[in-house]
Amino acid sequence: MLPESPAGSWTGGWLATARHCPSPNHGPRPEGAQIDLIVLHSISLPPGVYGGPEVEQLFTNTLDWDAHPYFGQIRGMEVSAHFFIRRDGELVQFVDADARAWHAGASCWRGRGNCNDDSIGIELEGLEGEPFEAAQYATLSQLCRQLQARYPVIHVAGHEHIAPGRKQDPGPGFEWARLQHDLGWSPAFFPETLTGANPPGA
Ligand SMILES: [Zn+2]
Repeated sequence: MLPESPAGSWTGGWLATARHCPSPNHGPRPEGAQIDLIVLHSISLPPGVYGGPEVEQLFTNTLDWDAHPYFGQIRGMEVSAHFFIRRDGELVQFVDADARAWHAGASCWRGRGNCNDDSIGIELEGLEGEPFEAAQYATLSQLCRQLQARYPVIHVAGHEHIAPGRKQDPGPGFEWARLQHDLGWSPAFFPETLTGANPPGA
């Protein structure tokens, strides 16, 4: 692989080093949106099965809803995220990061609702409660840095934090302290798990 600029190589809101898989599930952000939040998710289809094409099919409205019993529960969903990080660290981009992707749903964080309006959504291939791969943390931290080079990112949260009680991803298998350490960003950027009684390194 070619060495990559820490700021990334952007064409508009598309990152050159991601594999582009354009999704129709997006729209414009509100006028003047401050894109200052990264939202982390986990997904696998069927749940717990890794490496197949189903997530990309879901986000491009090409999933065969009858191919697996689980897909019946999500039949007809039109969703997307800006980015997807596979178990081997491969980065896929579905939506121009300047545009509004459909990943958060009803949500609230840092005193603002409708987090899709002003966040970047990143899906990690995985299962709530299960650990993630070292290659995923490596890609994720590089992506977060590249996003911060283009957008005024000062918050990182999980879907479970912005939609508590409704969503549980990425779940307890995700190591927030590891991401914070990899990035060297202030613990104040992250959910309170990092600023509680047992901060990392204490
Ligand atoms: Zn989610």
